[in-house]
Amino acid sequence: MDELRRAGRAAADLAADHLAGIMDNPVWRPVRGADHDWLTRQDLPAAGRPLDDLVHDVRTRILPYPMGNGHPRFFGWVNSPPSPAGVVVSSLAAALNPSCAGGDHAGALLEHSVVRWLAELVGYPHRPGGGLLTSGASMATIIAVASARQRAARRDGWDVREDGLSGHPPMVMYVSAEAHGCLRKAAELLGLGSRHLRVVRVDDTFRLDVNALRTAIAEDLAMGLRPFCVAASAGTVNTGAIDSLDEIADIAAEHGLWFHVDGAYGAPAVLARQTAPAFAGWERADSVVLDPHKWLGVPVDCGCVLLRDPAFARDAFSLVPAYLRDDEAGDLGWFAEYGPEQTRQFRSLRAWATMAHLGREGIVRLVEHTMSLARRLAVLIEDSDDFELLAPVTTSITAFRYRPRPELGPDPLDALNRAIPAAVRRRGRAFLTGTRLAGAEAMRACFLNPATTEQDLAVLLAEIRAAAAELSG
Ligand SMILES: *Cc1c(COP(=O)(O)O)cnc(C)c1O
Repeated sequence: MDELRRAGRAAADLAADHLAGIMDNPVWRPVRGADHDWLTRQDLPAAGRPLDDLVHDVRTRILPYPMGNGHPRFFGWVNSPPSPAGVVVSSLAAALNPSCAGGDHAGALLEHSVVRWLAELVGYPHRPGGGLLTSGASMATIIAVASARQRAARRDGWDVREDGLSGHPPMVMYVSAEAHGCLRKAAELLGLGSRHLRVVRVDDTFRLDVNALRTAIAEDLAMGLRPFCVAASAGTVNTGAIDSLDEIADIAAEHGLWFHVDGAYGAPAVLARQTAPAFAGWERADSVVLDPHKWLGVPVDCGCVLLRDPAFARDAFSLVPAYLRDDEAGDLGWFAEYGPEQTRQFRSLRAWATMAHLGREGIVRLVEHTMSLARRLAVLIEDSDDFELLAPVTTSITAFRYRPRPELGPDPLDALNRAIPAAVRRRGRAFLTGTRLAGAEAMRACFLNPATTEQDLAVLLAEIRAAAAELSG
């Protein structure tokens, strides 16, 4: 036990040193040479090595090569820094090491509070059992769409688990052109076929065009297909756009569709004064997904699906073979009955600690601060003559492109904007990723880090100009 204590303390110090020293290191650095070989090609040692040595390896070979998302100038994708509370409890979750499939122990029981906290936080109606933690929004979406599919088949008088999908009119799901790829993955995985995923166009603010949605549903009905689900976005990854949830809820109600909302990234924006009204109608959703491992900063991984009526998920997934039966499980049964995962990690401890440490007020401050950074960057961009804003700022994402004078033609401009993010990353002072928006190459900066400041925005724009000069020079 002395070895565990010593190495455990060293690891805790190392974690604290790493987090305290983030600003002294590049946001990201490429992994080259001996360290790359060590990471990718080392051999399993024949004899076990002492814990102290392993901690040493982590210090010298692992911590110097972060993805970058701990740094205040990481603006890529949708990845947050870890919450300190989440870091502290991670080794304790491992020390307890429960499987949160279900049962009568702290690991399974705490999840009930955390799921309810999440629902209450984002203003979604909660009933006991109405949700579970998952590896991320992708898995949460699979659970939501499987529940929707189950309900639709039941309503039509058959059982998709027993019958499979063949012999019935194809089920159609509606998403917008800005929806996350996890919806398509779910549709494919669940046997719906991406051909039956209707990708509805967006308007010029990147929100699902509800008239196009109505038309698509009418066309599918006329062809004898079975519309069953519409998935709206509350915070798209490209621009942070929030679809017209209330209107989409009306359309879903009119046609008996399952109304799903992807709030993986954007759900916490419901807490901000400016964006709260845009969430009207989201309490009408049949399912909502959100990712505590995004804006809330719960260390990866922690996603969540919230369900208006958990019975459909249980109907879609519950399978209790004799070796798993638990005669003492209450009415709700086990979490494992509501999704595909059996052994489930102790995610609720990280989420509980993160939320309890911030408190509701701290979460609101985090959301407001990061949203104000996105708006501030938009102002800097509009005030400059070599950047162009490409979308309204709704949440904490700013989408833009570099547009130097004299004007480049569309192709060289696209090529330059496509090359800039990697060039910025190589310089090590900021981390940016690109995308395509309305047919053009774009960059986007996503703000999730409470430590990011307005000065960091100026650095970002300076780094882009410097990277562009490198590329053009
Ligand atoms: C990240 C994200 C997802 C996918 O979530 P994972 O946690 O990566 O599985 C889905 N939708 C949106 C809007 C996202 O930002």
